[in-house]
Amino acid sequence: MDEKLSQEIRKIALQNASEHNGQTREKIVLARILGSHPDLRNKIKNLSRDVSEIINVVNKLSIEEQRSKIEQEFPDLLKAKPKQEIEKTILPPLEEAKNGMVVTRFPPEPNGYPHIGHAKAAIIDEEYAKMYGGKMILRFDDTNPANERMEYYAAIKVGLDWLGIKYDKIKNTSDDLELIYDKGLHMIKSGQAYVCTCKAETVSENRKEKKPCKCRSIDQKQTVDRWEKMFEKYKPGEAIVRFRGNMNSENTVMRDPVLFRIIDSSHALLGNKYRVWPGYDFATAIEDSVDGITHALRTKEYELRNELYYAILDALQMRKPKVLEFSRLEFEGMPVSKRVLKQLIDEGKIPDYEDPRIPTLEGLKRRGILPDAIRKFVLSLGFTKADTTAPFDVLESFNRKMVDSKSIRLNMVKEPVKLIVSKIPFDSVTISNHPTVDMGKRKVVIDGNFYISKKDANELKVGSQIRLMNLGNVSITKSSVDLEGEFIDDNVKSELPKIQWVPQKSAQKISIIIPGILFINDNFNENSLEITEGYTEDYYSNLKVGDEIQFIRFGYCRKDSATQVIFTHK
Ligand code: ATP
Ligand code: MG
Repeated sequence: MDEKLSQEIRKIALQNASEHNGQTREKIVLARILGSHPDLRNKIKNLSRDVSEIINVVNKLSIEEQRSKIEQEFPDLLKAKPKQEIEKTILPPLEEAKNGMVVTRFPPEPNGYPHIGHAKAAIIDEEYAKMYGGKMILRFDDTNPANERMEYYAAIKVGLDWLGIKYDKIKNTSDDLELIYDKGLHMIKSGQAYVCTCKAETVSENRKEKKPCKCRSIDQKQTVDRWEKMFEKYKPGEAIVRFRGNMNSENTVMRDPVLFRIIDSSHALLGNKYRVWPGYDFATAIEDSVDGITHALRTKEYELRNELYYAILDALQMRKPKVLEFSRLEFEGMPVSKRVLKQLIDEGKIPDYEDPRIPTLEGLKRRGILPDAIRKFVLSLGFTKADTTAPFDVLESFNRKMVDSKSIRLNMVKEPVKLIVSKIPFDSVTISNHPTVDMGKRKVVIDGNFYISKKDANELKVGSQIRLMNLGNVSITKSSVDLEGEFIDDNVKSELPKIQWVPQKSAQKISIIIPGILFINDNFNENSLEITEGYTEDYYSNLKVGDEIQFIRFGYCRKDSATQVIFTHK
C-alpha cells in the first residue's frame, strides 16, 4: 500500500475514533478518503481492504493510546480550532464609541418572564460596555402599572444573573417619576405639549386623517389646568398629554403622540401613589438622557420612533444619546415574545414559564442550555439589522461543544426488551464515565440479565452477533419473546453493531421528556411534548438535578428530577 495514503487513512481513523468513544468505522473513513481522492473510486476493493486493516489496529487502541498516537504522529490535529469561529463571537465596532465613555442600558419592562430575545439585547449592551471600558445600566422600564408585577422584576434579575450579566447600576424608571412630571409640565408650559380630552376613537380617527383636534389650540393656562386635573379629577381615558408633533407627518408616530395617560392600577413598587404615567417614548428619551446613556440600543421595530425620541429631547434641550437598532431574535416555530408566551400559558397550552419547549431563560436552563452557549450564540449573530430567524440548532451546536466535556456517559434503553446472556466469564465491568475527560469510573455489576432497546432488539435474529458496549460480543441464540444469547469473547470487532444495555437488576426507570417544535405553520403543535419511558443505570441516582448526561447512542439530557430527564439535543 502507498505509504502516504496509508498515513492519511490512519490519521482520519485516529481522529474519528478518538472523537467517537474510541471506535471508528470503515464507511466513515472510506467516505473521507474518497472525498479527497476521487481517483480512487475505481479501486474501492483494495482501498476498503486497506482501510479495514488500519481501522482494526486503531480500534483496538484505548482512547488514551489513540490520543498519544495523535500527539506523536499528527500533532497538527491538536492545533486550536480555526480562528474564524473565535472572531465570529466578537461584535463589530460601535459607531462613535470612545474608550471609557460608553454607557449602555438594558431596559426591560417587568411585564413578563425574560427570554432569549432579552438575553440578546442584554448581552449586546453588556459586551459593548465591556469592549469600550464603559458602563451598563439595568433599568426597569416600569411605567405601565396595569401589566407589571413584582414577580417579573425578580424573574428578570434572576435571569440576568444566570446569564452572568454584570451591570454597573440598577434603577427603575418609576424612581424618576417626579422628574418626568417636571419635564412634562415644562413641555406644556412651553407649548410643546397639550392635554387632549377627545375620545380615544376620535384621537385615532384624527391621526389617521391627519386632522388636528380643538384641544391643540386651547390656551396655555387652561392646558396647565387640565394637566393638574389629570392627577385627581379626570378618569382614565378622559385626558391624555400629547406631544405637539406634526399631524401631517408621513411618520404616523409624529402625529401628536401620547406622552402621559391616566392608569389607576396599583403599581408594583409604588402602590397607588401615582396615577399619571408617562408613555414609553417620553420616559425612555428622558431616562436615557439623564442616565448618561451614550448609545441606546434597541430592536428594529422601534426605528420609526427615533424621530420622536430626538424631537422630545430637542424640545427639552436635553443631551441626545445615539440610538442604534438591531434585529429581533426569532426562532422558527418557537415564540420569542412575552405577549405570545403569556397567552400560551393563560390558555393552558403550556403549564408554566419553565417549560422546556419555550425560549424563556427558565425554559432553556431546564432544557440544559448553558448561559455561555447563549452568549456565544448571540454574539455569533452579530449586531445587525438583518432579520435573524436563526435556527435553534445553531444554539444547540454551541451548547453541545460546551456540555460535551461535562456530560457523564451513561447507558439508557428506550422501550426496554429483555436479553439473557449466558457464559459471561465475569460478574462486573468497569466503565469510564467519560471517554476523554477524567470523570472517574463506575463498576457495573452484571448477572447476564439485561435490557436493550426495542429498536435494537427488532434487528436481531438467531445467529446475529452484536457487541454489548464495554462488555463483549454476543451471539443471539433465541429471539422469540425474550431474547437470549451467548457470550463469545471480548475482542473488539468493529463490524459488529454496538448496542447499549442496562442490567435488569439495577435498572432505574426514568421518563424522558423530549421538547418539540411549538408551532407548525402557525398552528399550535399538540404533539410538541413527547414523553417516553426508559431504563438507565443505577449510577443515575448519584447525579444531581441539573447535571448533564450523554445517554450513549441517544443524546444529551439534563437530569430534571430523580425520575425524569429532559432531552437537550443530539
Ligand atoms: P416582548 O414582545 O417579548 O414583550 P419587548 O420588546 O416588549 O418584548 P421589553 O421588556 O420592552 O420587551 O424589552 C427589553 C429590551 O429587550 C428591548 O431593548 C428590546 O428591544 C429587547 N428585546 C425584546 N425582545 C427581543 C428579541 N426577540 N430579540 C432581541 N431583542 C429583544
Ligand atoms: Mg415592551
